[in-house]
Amino acid sequence: MPQSLESLVQAWDGLAVVTRHHAPTGSWIFIALHDATLGNPCGGTRLKHYPDPAAGLRDAMRLARGMTHKWAALKFKQGGGKAVLAVPENLDEHGRRSLLLDYGRLVDELGGVFATGRDLGTTDDDMRVLAEVTPFVHGVDRESDRARDPGPYTARGVAVAIRATLRAIYGSGEITGRSILIQGLGDVGEPLARRLADAGATLLLSDIDEARAERLARALDASTVPAANVYQTECDIYAPCALGATLNEQTIPLLGCRGVAGSANNQLAEDDDADRLHDRGILYAPDFIANGGGALAFALIKSGITDEAKIAKRTESIGETLDGVFAAAKKSGVSPNEIAISRIDIELEALRTKKHP
Ligand code: NAD
Repeated sequence: MPQSLESLVQAWDGLAVVTRHHAPTGSWIFIALHDATLGNPCGGTRLKHYPDPAAGLRDAMRLARGMTHKWAALKFKQGGGKAVLAVPENLDEHGRRSLLLDYGRLVDELGGVFATGRDLGTTDDDMRVLAEVTPFVHGVDRESDRARDPGPYTARGVAVAIRATLRAIYGSGEITGRSILIQGLGDVGEPLARRLADAGATLLLSDIDEARAERLARALDASTVPAANVYQTECDIYAPCALGATLNEQTIPLLGCRGVAGSANNQLAEDDDADRLHDRGILYAPDFIANGGGALAFALIKSGITDEAKIAKRTESIGETLDGVFAAAKKSGVSPNEIAISRIDIELEALRTKKHP
C-alpha cells in the first residue's frame, strides 16, 4: 500500500526533511537529513521519476540513513544526508536546469547544513549547474569549473575492500591469481578491472552491454561472463558494480563465489539477505563500507586535501574497518553487515549522549 508523506515523516528516525515543490516542472525536492552526530549531513543528489512523491521521500530517507553509516564507517566527521529530486517522466532540458537552480539555491540557503554531489540520475553537468549558485557541492573544481569523476576513487576503495575480504577468507589479501568477477563495467567497474588486472587477478567481466565487456576483456586479457550467468559462476570474489538488490532470496542460493565486495548501493534486497549469505559461508563486505572511496576522496578534496598519496592512504581505512568487522563477525557468529551496523549505531548513540547528556 502506498505510504503518505506524513506517515513516512512520522516513522522516520532521522533529523529532519527539507521539502519543496518546484511548481514549474511539478517536481518534488526532498533533502533528508538523517544524522549530524559526526558533522553536517552530506550525500548525493538522486534525480529520478517515482510513481508518487512519497516513494521519492522514502528513497531519500533510506539513502540518507545509509550515508550516516558510510561516513561513520569511513571515520569521517560528516553526517548522513541525501537529496532526491522526484521529477515527472517528461522533464525537458529547460525544466531540468530551472529545477537544479531552484534546488541549488535551497541548498545554499541551508548555509552548509547539507552538502551534496552526484548520484544516480545526476551528471557532472548537473553538478556544475548547482555550483553556479552554491559552494556546497562536492566534485566540482571551482577554479577550472570542471567536474571530477568519482568512479576511479570508488574503484580504489572497492579494491581495498576486496583485499580485506580475501584476507579474511584465505589469510592473505594477495590479488594475484584470485578470480574476481565484476558485474557492471561503468564508471566504477572499468577502473576497478584495470586496477585488479594490474595486480594480477584472474578477471571475469560481465555487463548487459556485451560489446563493452568484450572490449575490456580483450584489452585486459580477461574472460567474459554472460549477464545471466553471473551468480552461479565460480570465483573467489563477486564484485557487484551495476545495480542494487542483486543479493536476494533467488540469487544467494545460486552464488558460486566465496566473498562479495563491490560498489553497488543497497546490494542486499532485504536485511535477511545478510543472514542468508552468512549461512552459506559467503563473506559479505557491507556495501556502505566497500563503496565509500569516492565519497571519502571528494570530501577530502573539498576540505583542501588534494594530494593523491594522502587520499590513497586514507582510503586504506576501508580495509582496516573491514578487518575489524570480519574479525568480530567470525568471533560472534553474526553476519558482518549486522556487526557493522550495530557497531556504528552504538558509537553514534554514545556520542549523542555525550553531546546531550
Ligand atoms: P555506471 O552507470 O557508470 O555503470 C553501470 C554499468 O553496469 C554499465 O556499464 C551498465 O551497462 C551495467 N549494467 C547495468 N545493469 C546490469 C546488469 N543487470 N548486469 C550487468 N551489468 C549491468 O554506474 P557506476 O557509476 O559505475 O556505479 C555502479 C554502481 O556503484 C551503482 O550501483 C552506483 O550507485 C554505485 N556507486 C557508484 C559510485 C561512483 O563513484 N560512481 C559510488 C558509490 C556507489
